[in-house]
Amino acid sequence: MARDYYGILGVSKGASDDEIKRAYRKLARQLHPDVNPDPEAQEKFKDINAAYEVLSDDRKRQIVDLGGDPLAPGGGAGGPGGPGGAGPFVGFQDIMDAFFGGAAGAGRGPRPRTRPGADAILRLELDLQETAFGVEAPITVDTAVLCTTCTGAGTAAGTHLATCEACGGRGEVQSVQRTFLGQVVSARPCTVCQGYGTTIPTPCPTCAGDGRVRTRRSLTVKIPAGVEDGMRIRLAQQGEVGPGGGTAGDLYVEIHERPHDVFSRKGDDLHCRVTVPMTAAALGTRLTIKTLDSEEPVDVKPGTQPGSTLRLRARGVPHLRGTGRGDLYVHLDVRTPTKLDADQERMLREFAKTRGEEVAELSKQGGFFSRMRDAFNGHA
Ligand SMILES: [Zn+2]
Ligand SMILES: [Zn+2]
Repeated sequence: MARDYYGILGVSKGASDDEIKRAYRKLARQLHPDVNPDPEAQEKFKDINAAYEVLSDDRKRQIVDLGGDPLAPGGGAGGPGGPGGAGPFVGFQDIMDAFFGGAAGAGRGPRPRTRPGADAILRLELDLQETAFGVEAPITVDTAVLCTTCTGAGTAAGTHLATCEACGGRGEVQSVQRTFLGQVVSARPCTVCQGYGTTIPTPCPTCAGDGRVRTRRSLTVKIPAGVEDGMRIRLAQQGEVGPGGGTAGDLYVEIHERPHDVFSRKGDDLHCRVTVPMTAAALGTRLTIKTLDSEEPVDVKPGTQPGSTLRLRARGVPHLRGTGRGDLYVHLDVRTPTKLDADQERMLREFAKTRGEEVAELSKQGGFFSRMRDAFNGHA
């Protein structure tokens, strides 16, 4: 019985060459023995290779479409390229393409010893005062720096890199296997040189061949005015030096703003709460508000209600971009006196009376429930 080569690749009978190629690459990536050592996967890998061999060849595909099997012994193909035929059925290039994308093949070879370094991130805690107006903050970073003994080369003084004998400097070793499906060419990074193509016969004693050493560095980072919690400041090339002394990555300083005792921040606006006595709210008063950087006289108008807000323009955080500042919002709480002496109580009752406001006298022993009862019984 003919095998379902379309089904093996998961494509339809009408699939274009491109679709077949894509489907094959996708599966080859998952099933390649270097990636997936599972024996079942290896069987499948053979299957998809067979399917690709057949479906990527117009003549063989035609045989399949006519119900035959070009790979079956005597299955109708017979010509060159049949089982055990000459030449690899799936080129080395195809497998490499499946792994590295179309651009592979060209320019592959030993991987460079010198590679770019990694970025680093550092958390910096600042007070509101500092995020608002900027600061020059000292920081220490644990990072990799260039090894000054070998200046990144990794070799001891007076010695040099040697070409890897195992791979002849190519950084990879190829093996050709003949299987019942044809010959399979595969390439693996050379384990002797880790794919570099060179070895270090005498490593630098300071960095052991890495070309960089770990150290603690002290820097000063200039924090601009108006930064916000969570923002990152990039210090170009202050991150880790790469292996082999490669270009340093960047250092990101992440701002964390400590909560302020008085002000809460929303964007560039600040908010705070101020409590004024009931009498001040009723009669009006002048407050002095201590802002982040000044003292401002603020008038509380007579008859101010609890929850009112006063806005002090441009007393918030300076804008990071552009000019100007956010505003400061002062939320007013009105404090009702909690303990009145006899005189004060009498005056307040009189005050209420002059305003025609009815104030029930709470009986000394009457709690909440007796008041409720009185309310229901009509005693107000
Ligand atoms: Zn060194
Ligand atoms: Zn090697």
